[in-house]
Amino acid sequence: MDQPVHPGLTDEAIADRLREAGLRVTKSRVAVYRVLHESDGHLSVDEIVELVAARGERYPRMTVYNIIARFLGAGLVMQADAGPGRALYEIAERWHHHFVCRVCGSVYDVPCVVGRKPCLEPDASDIGEVDEAQIIFRGVCTACTSSPHHEN
Ligand SMILES: [Zn+2]
Ligand SMILES: [Zn+2]
Repeated sequence: MDQPVHPGLTDEAIADRLREAGLRVTKSRVAVYRVLHESDGHLSVDEIVELVAARGERYPRMTVYNIIARFLGAGLVMQADAGPGRALYEIAERWHHHFVCRVCGSVYDVPCVVGRKPCLEPDASDIGEVDEAQIIFRGVCTACTSSPHHEN
């Protein structure tokens, strides 16, 4: 067996997490959980399909999409809100926000000082019941600010 690049979880550890979340354990679900866990997060469905394929398992995009939907429903995965046009997913650990660079489009985690949902309550209780507030911080990341091409 070859070693993973990032020290990962064993199949058994992933299977336990799926079971704890009330999900049936399948080979494809374990594969999708693994690439999400071993990446830095913020993966699109297409990227997940590619990463799983790179490990020698090929699943149709729809299969991966359905697995992500199950994981979201079970609270295993969260959707990182990084603006329009891109649905990005990551393992749901501590609740956090995102910083999106206007220049390179990189997505960075921003720790949430509260650490649970919802961390912001609007001053308008007549709208409805708020269960989540995810904030997108926008600006220019350090890598882009220090690049010689960046103009201020
Ligand atoms: Zn940048
Ligand atoms: Zn994130």
